[in-house]
Amino acid sequence: MADWCRVNIMKLFRRRSFSHGVHPPAHKDGTAQIPIRRLPFAPQLILPLGQHIGAPAQALVKKGQDVVRGQPLAAAAGAMSVPLHAPATGRIREIKSMLTSRGSREPAIVLDVYEASTQEVLWREKRNLEELDQDQLLQAIQDAGLVGLGGAAFPSHIKLRVPEDKKVDTLIINGCECEPYLTCDHRIMLEYPDDLIRGIQLAMRASGTRRAIIGIEDNKMDAVKLLAERLRKASDIQVEAVETKYPQGSEKMLIKSLLNREVPAGGIPADIGVVVNNVGTLAALGRLLPRGEGLMERVITVTGSGVRRQGNYLVPLGTPIGFILEQAGYEGGPNEFILGGPMMGPAVSSLEVPITKGSSGLLVLNEPSIRAESRHRWPCIKCGRCVSACPMHLNPALLGQLALAGEYEEMAHDAHLNHCFECGCCSYVCPSNIPLVQLFRAAKAINREKAA
Ligand code: SF4
Ligand code: SF4
Repeated sequence: MADWCRVNIMKLFRRRSFSHGVHPPAHKDGTAQIPIRRLPFAPQLILPLGQHIGAPAQALVKKGQDVVRGQPLAAAAGAMSVPLHAPATGRIREIKSMLTSRGSREPAIVLDVYEASTQEVLWREKRNLEELDQDQLLQAIQDAGLVGLGGAAFPSHIKLRVPEDKKVDTLIINGCECEPYLTCDHRIMLEYPDDLIRGIQLAMRASGTRRAIIGIEDNKMDAVKLLAERLRKASDIQVEAVETKYPQGSEKMLIKSLLNREVPAGGIPADIGVVVNNVGTLAALGRLLPRGEGLMERVITVTGSGVRRQGNYLVPLGTPIGFILEQAGYEGGPNEFILGGPMMGPAVSSLEVPITKGSSGLLVLNEPSIRAESRHRWPCIKCGRCVSACPMHLNPALLGQLALAGEYEEMAHDAHLNHCFECGCCSYVCPSNIPLVQLFRAAKAINREKAA
């Protein structure tokens, strides 16, 4: 075949994508084909009041109070906050400071679950969704306690409320799930397509957008086909396969891949006419709003070499990871526990840490798999691999040098530290095992403290 012909055929089949990024091993085979299973209630649930970005919710309940599944336990503390609902029927043991996945102790409601607590939701606030105007719909989304379930935990009603000075034309639904090991979004697309489509339609109404595009990595073609089939008659919602590449699921990369638009430095997607939501979030929106329920549970992937019954589980919020491991067959031994995927998820040190709204997975790595940052570190050999990998076109080697020299302000002013969204591509490719992304996180925290 002539070369020009081969190139044209390649172009025809090349998936939409962005430049740079990495291709880590997927490790999804162990869970991608396993249907979602419901986990029983743990005897005690730990519900931090700050499970979202913004002001922590304010407790509405007292020690010793009986509550029913679905009842609001805490109210939103202002516009940038969401309420918290009881995942089970039980009695409030106390409200006290508990360890969270952030590594800090934060106020949390401790709920003793009644042994006889069932899955039935006993508290609802039903609304006629057809009659709601845009503001009322956004209020209903806030009242449901919805936040971005892809990991960011940004309040959904804020994300869907387009600022008055911006014009948005497209809702992008992120079905990429580019983090290795995680398959919960994949299963949600396969098992809850009707909830997802209903959620997309509600999100389009709430944001005032006329078209929606579901972006899915091409390692999940079964989900692409299933949704395309369901959407045959809904011409305002399209499904697009994009290249499987990390971090395809980050907002900026997915917008670039699907629309060839770039979010300006320091800007938000609405600046270029886009709102982005994750598939798990919109499936929850489509399921909860018509029923008048709040967010009480979520799907997480439980996986890694340290667990016997890997899979995707529907888990009540507040379930301690120790209880999940008991149910999923923990192998024991020297393990590392990561809440989320291996590229961006935080490692947790205690099995008492609970699943919260932003937890998309529980990854248990045994000794041979332990992450790069714990390996021996060598000096930078100026190979440039980190520069070629960075999807934000930064110079991670320079940022790393500045971080090691303690020049944190220079990192922000001269090397654009704040454009880094901590995807971890640079750390992943570094042959010297320099924990670049950890250095950048620490530098940002120091700069934030100084600014405060
Ligand atoms: S962590 Fe930051 S510097 Fe490193 S590749 Fe990602 S965006 Fe670039
Ligand atoms: S990848 Fe590592 S060794 Fe190579 S230039 Fe970047 S920091 Fe230096």
